[in-house]
Amino acid sequence: MEDRFGRQINYLRISITDRCNLRCLYCMPQDGIATRPRDEILRMEEILRAAEIALQMGINKFRLTGGEPLLRKGVIPFIKSLALWPGVKDIAVTTNGVLLQQLGGQLFDAGVKRLNISLDTLDSEKFRLITRGGDFKQVWKGIEKVLEIGFQPVKLNIVALRNFNDREWVDFARLTMDYPLHVRFIELMPIGTSWEMAGDSFASCQEIKDQIEHALGELCPKPKVQGSGPAEYYTLSGAKGTIGFIHAMSNHFCADCNRLRLTADGKLRPCLHDQHEVDLRDALRTGAGDEKLRQLFVKAVALKPANHHLATGAPAAGRGMCQIGG
Ligand code: SAM
Ligand code: SF4
Repeated sequence: MEDRFGRQINYLRISITDRCNLRCLYCMPQDGIATRPRDEILRMEEILRAAEIALQMGINKFRLTGGEPLLRKGVIPFIKSLALWPGVKDIAVTTNGVLLQQLGGQLFDAGVKRLNISLDTLDSEKFRLITRGGDFKQVWKGIEKVLEIGFQPVKLNIVALRNFNDREWVDFARLTMDYPLHVRFIELMPIGTSWEMAGDSFASCQEIKDQIEHALGELCPKPKVQGSGPAEYYTLSGAKGTIGFIHAMSNHFCADCNRLRLTADGKLRPCLHDQHEVDLRDALRTGAGDEKLRQLFVKAVALKPANHHLATGAPAAGRGMCQIGG
């Protein structure tokens, strides 16, 4: 599918649950976001039907996210079914890593080869603070386990937070010397609960890059890592992994946007930062045929804006990342 700005849309990010087992400060309020009643959340077979239509429309790359996707019952059989369809090129997962020790092997066998794992600090106490109770060791062991299993690439997503992890940016970069990890710094976006903290906590990718180069030497630009989307990659001399920067705010990447999102409650979302949504759930539940469902995908693609306006101060869209699927 091509949108009105000539972008090829071949990637669907599916939020398979709005629930989470962590409460990251920038993503969720303390008590969690009021999750949708269970019957408003798409059933796994409805998500599979949506993915089938997406595939018919030329979407061949899928990412499961959430909330925490590994919490969703039925996630492994879902991936197995998706992976069996001819034409599906890639299934990736974005996870907080809490359940990777238990589920890493099953995910790999089901057909996932690429993982993005969120990790904002390497310090156990700070990890507990930022996630409101998470166990760093549990996640780190999960990371070691998936490297051992052979996932490739394994990317670490680090939301850059001034006065929280700024003294660790260099340590994260150093990890790439010892591990084949792709560490990616993401600029904090003023969305959901981070709307208030974004001003004080924001740090730009340029600042992080300067700090790393000052401490560890020149970063050499790298060709894109598989499935790298909006990140820009570099490597340190002799490193096993790479260092990526996602300039979500300072230099946005909308011109290359190739994606649609499907929210856990069944809305197709043309842009992370735009309120427009196209309801797929009703159609799925009222027995709509392939043609009707395809039209809804076409409608969503037609609604993709040229770019988002977060950096120029426009208000962020109403839902938070954990609801839309970051
Ligand atoms: N629970 C999974 C996880 O944490 O990886 C998947 C969902 S989470 C919403 C997806 C990604 O969005 C995470 O890497 C998280 O750090 C990122 N994220 C959430 N809120 C953000 C914000 N305000 N700005 C930038 N990234 C954010
Ligand atoms: Fe949960 Fe991921 Fe949001 Fe953290 S970033 S609260 S792990 S959905």
